Amino acid sequence: EEKEKQRLREAMDLAARLFHHLLMNTDHGEEAREYLTRRGIQHSTMEEFQLGYAPDSYRFLLPFLKRRGFHEDELIKAGLVAQRDSSTGGRSSCFDRFRGRVMFPIHDSQGRVIAFGGRLLGDGRPKYLNSPETPLFHKGKFLFNLHRARKSIRKEAQSVLFEGYMDVIAAWQAGVKNGVATLGTSLTDSQARVIRRNAETVILCYDSDTPGQQAAERGMDVLRERECVVKVARMPHGMDPDDYIGEYGADAFTDEVLAQALPFTAFKLETIKKDHNLNDEDDRMQYLARAVELVARLPQAIERDHYLRRLSEEFDISLDALKQEQRKAASKKK
Ligand code: ATP
Ligand code: MN
Ligand code: MN
Ligand code: MN
Repeated sequence: EEKEKQRLREAMDLAARLFHHLLMNTDHGEEAREYLTRRGIQHSTMEEFQLGYAPDSYRFLLPFLKRRGFHEDELIKAGLVAQRDSSTGGRSSCFDRFRGRVMFPIHDSQGRVIAFGGRLLGDGRPKYLNSPETPLFHKGKFLFNLHRARKSIRKEAQSVLFEGYMDVIAAWQAGVKNGVATLGTSLTDSQARVIRRNAETVILCYDSDTPGQQAAERGMDVLRERECVVKVARMPHGMDPDDYIGEYGADAFTDEVLAQALPFTAFKLETIKKDHNLNDEDDRMQYLARAVELVARLPQAIERDHYLRRLSEEFDISLDALKQEQRKAASKKK
């Protein structure tokens, strides 16, 4: 078992080195190099993240690793090679899984390559192809970039959670070294535990589009379940962190987006507010009722008091009245 994993790790490591070499030093990698450069990725960052290029060929990595003594079934297990249905009686038909893609190695917490994400250079589907589940890689358990970010996460007592590879990398170049990503899938409890183990506070910095915001809503609950202090970063609609940094630069990203991230409750209140027209008296009262319900569910008395006072000032309603409503909301819940 452990011996098999060791073999798979060796295959992954060789693949990562080969892809990286192709990207950095060869004609095969030129288009990918230009693509990354166009996207603002510096050479030193390509080195740091060991980015690579998988050529657009069905048989490139496979023969390379076979010459190095790996068997087809090992490479299938590692998720590097796929197999065509051979029930029709043809020859065994294994081929490279990743073709014509920029390769992002995914490391475990010890910095060993356990999987890849591959992005097409242009449009097309799927835009990203990730390694399947393998004996080394369980996607619900890993966070992209954790092994690089851990030191900084602990030092700053805070992590930044992104959706994608490019967001982590763009933020890294912008000086944000405590970023990790869930690779586009929803945050699992096991990932939340890993995050909490390294730092209490998490800034959620998901894409500012509908799927991103929905994923952020779910992520908040998962993180709060594990007693994280959650903050939510906001960007102009339709942008993701990588777009934002490209458009407005590193300083704007740290000063306007990360430093201005809203505490969880303030963010929720803002979200509810968008459903109501506060100039309309009825609608304003409905907003207040929902806001008080939200506050009633907060676990800490200090927090409840803080937000009730804010609502009281904002809407010029007595604190007593709000407290009464809060008690009603709290008893209704049970
Ligand atoms: P880019 O900036 O390169 O276009 P992105 O990171 O902004 O990509 P999103 O569509 O926002 O891409 O997706 C976020 C993350 O979700 C990606 O970084 C990737 O990890 C994952 N992802 C996206 N599309 C797919 C897919 N088709 N299959 C698997 N994972 C995907
Ligand atoms: Mn997205
Ligand atoms: Mn995105
Ligand atoms: Mn993007």
